[in-house]
Amino acid sequence: MITRERIVQSFLDLVAIDSPSGDEDAIAAELEHRLRRLGLQVAQDPAGNVLARLEGTGDAVLLSAHMDTVEPGRGIKPRWDGPDIIRSDGTTILGADDKAGCAVILEVLHSLIEDGGPHRPIEVALSRGEEVGLVGAVKMDYSRITARVALVIDSGGPPSSIQGQAPYHYTCDIEVHGRSAHAGLEPEKGIPAITIAAEIVAGLPQGRLDPETTGNVGVIRGGLVRNAVPDHCLIQAEFRSMVEEKAETLARGVHRHLEAVRQRYSGARIEARLGLAYPGYRLEPGDPAVELLYPVLRSLGFEPNPHPVGGGTDGNVFRGRGISAVVIGRGGYDQHTRDEYLVIPEMLDCARVVEAVARSGAG
Ligand SMILES: [Zn+2]
Repeated sequence: MITRERIVQSFLDLVAIDSPSGDEDAIAAELEHRLRRLGLQVAQDPAGNVLARLEGTGDAVLLSAHMDTVEPGRGIKPRWDGPDIIRSDGTTILGADDKAGCAVILEVLHSLIEDGGPHRPIEVALSRGEEVGLVGAVKMDYSRITARVALVIDSGGPPSSIQGQAPYHYTCDIEVHGRSAHAGLEPEKGIPAITIAAEIVAGLPQGRLDPETTGNVGVIRGGLVRNAVPDHCLIQAEFRSMVEEKAETLARGVHRHLEAVRQRYSGARIEARLGLAYPGYRLEPGDPAVELLYPVLRSLGFEPNPHPVGGGTDGNVFRGRGISAVVIGRGGYDQHTRDEYLVIPEMLDCARVVEAVARSGAG
């Protein structure tokens, strides 16, 4: 049985282990230990993701959460706010994103194992580096994953809150190599990387371009001293759209714009790495994840509430790898802020839904 006291304790134990992105070794070791104690086969893949398997009958389902958090995420001190809500002390995030997802997975496994009875084979993927570009999911060892359907337990709100649509996301790193020269004595000999970069930036997609498309220049870095023509400048940009063709059109536009700038500054070398970081998706009727999850939600009294989100999750990457993934809520709110909080009854509801999915269709 899903047990409130146990899942809350797991959650509190997990947030006590600092795990900002890039610093996941301790949390990975702890989760590996807990999964092994439950009797699962567990290993870290070469990217450090924790992968585990519990045998069962029928088609396997993948349960996924991420181990890393955003900053400020060190020394988290959870506080009760009434009987059902946990917050941080206000100086850090809480880390319910996504320690609540990890706690849900542990609790579901506990419950399935102690209650006995048939369930699907369960595969577990706990990723690293989700918050810094889905790094762990991108590098995951998919040869160890057989499931064709996944629950990604990493959305805000109750379990009926489902990410129904997520954008295609392109990233773009541009490096301008110019030539340095003394700015006062012989500027003619220089090729000003920052000036060229400014022309590039002015032509990149930025802001809300239409209701389903956005662009941003997030980083510009170049130059060393005031009195030298700068020989290098880096630009990091991105754009996203719910519509694949719109994202592709933007990508072609960026290439054309860069080509035009290259024509104007033939002495400069402009290198661009522009590519799809992860594909978007839209949940449609008939999608295997929808067919699996929606009847279970309804049988437990929840009406599925799919809604579009502007960001990516590991679910985008899984879908790009042919795994039908759906991202569900696990009771968190105000994620990525010091006001982040967790609603315990919703985390419990999430665990009940995930357990019921694991039980459904078990041969
Ligand atoms: Zn998350």
